[in-house]
Parts: sequence; C-alpha cells; structure tokens
Amino acid sequence: MSIISAFSTRFRLTFWEKSKQDLLHLLFPSKCIVCSEEWPSNEPICSFCKSELHYTGFEKYSEPTELDKLFWGRVTVEGTFALLYFYKNSSTQKILHSLKYGNKPETGRILGKEIGKHVKDLAFIEDADAIVPVPLHPKKQFVRGYNQSTQLAEGISEITGIPIAHHFVAKLQHTASQTRQGRFSRWENVTGNFRVKKTTSSYKHILIIDDVVTTGATLEAMIRSIQTVYPDLRISIISLAIAK
Ligand SMILES: [Zn+2]
Repeated sequence: MSIISAFSTRFRLTFWEKSKQDLLHLLFPSKCIVCSEEWPSNEPICSFCKSELHYTGFEKYSEPTELDKLFWGRVTVEGTFALLYFYKNSSTQKILHSLKYGNKPETGRILGKEIGKHVKDLAFIEDADAIVPVPLHPKKQFVRGYNQSTQLAEGISEITGIPIAHHFVAKLQHTASQTRQGRFSRWENVTGNFRVKKTTSSYKHILIIDDVVTTGATLEAMIRSIQTVYPDLRISIISLAIAK
C-alpha cells in the first residue's frame, strides 16, 4: 500500500468513526452527570462542570499529602491518592451524590477510569496485586443495587490492569457480629464492623478503594480488621475525593 493510499484509508476510517459518533450522539445525546444538561461529547462531565472541579494534584506531590497525614499515628499505610477535593455544594458533591443515589453505576466506572489515568504511573501502584473496594452494608447495597466503590474499582482496574478482589472484606450487620460468629467458617471475625475473608491467595499489597474520605474512621477500622488477619499485608488507599 502506498503512503498516499494508506493515508486516505486512514482518513476515511477516521471520518467514518467521527460520523458514527456524531450519529450516536444525535440518537442518544449524553448528559453531564453533574448538571444533567445535554453535552455533545463522550466525556461524562461537561466542560463547565469540569472547570468547577477541584483536582488535588496529589500525583505531583513529593511531600506527604494531607491524606497521607490523616492516617499518621493511626494505621500503617503504604501510599494514598485522592482525585478531587470535596467542598459542600460543589460539583464534586453533585458527582458523589450522583454516584451513590443516581442509579447510574456506569458513572462510577467512568470516574474510576479517570482515577486510573492519574494513578497508573505512581510508584506505590507498581507492586499492588489486588484492588479491594470498601464494602457497603448488605441492606444498603440491596436498596442501591450496586456498590459505588466497586464501580470505581472496575474503572481503575480497567486502566491499571490490577484485578479486583471481590468479597475480600465484607461489612457486618451490626447486630449479627456477635451472634453469627460461629457460622462463618470461611471468615475470620475481628473487632469492628468488617469481616475479612481467609484466602489461599497470597496478596502482598492491596489498594483499598473508597468514594470519599472525611475523618478516615471507616478506612481505619477496615485496615485494622485486615491487618489483624494479615499482619504482613501492605495497604494503600485510593479515593475519588477527600473532604476539605
Ligand atoms: Zn455539567
């Protein structure tokens, strides 16, 4: 194939791809997940709402970030990352609301891919061998139909290639933690509201995925539970947002 015909084939393909996308948008216009306005792009967030987001820029820090410092003196954490700052009445708050209550599980996957692009070259990601979403209380998950942290994890996994360890940690029913203790032979019950699965696989470094970190109390409890069962397992934290 000559250079000219290769170029023209490529041009035709690009033109066809673009026309196909334009047609799809005409038939199924996408809406911004923040403001719900129609938005002629594959991007989930319109350019206006995107300009309103407060990115942390943590991937560029050489000093410890405020998310690193949040866990100092509480639990040992290998690395941390949050994509956005969360302020009240901000676009980030709308995103988190849409993620949890918008009945749009695909939003989480799209945002997870965005996180994945920001973390894929970070040093602490390199030897991570599993992604563990923060579990939801079973009743909440039943009502919502999905766990937003699992959706984020799907997107991160897609970009980084790190597999998700589904059901590695589960959330306990509050009242069931004592009475059902003897009935979960596959689970190691520990203090707190989490139960950690006994597994034959030998994870060395896991990434816990959360949607928003505020006080860090939930993550602290979850990490304590995991480290009681697996004292040598290294743990990092990735969150969509950190509260300001
Ligand atoms: Zn918008």
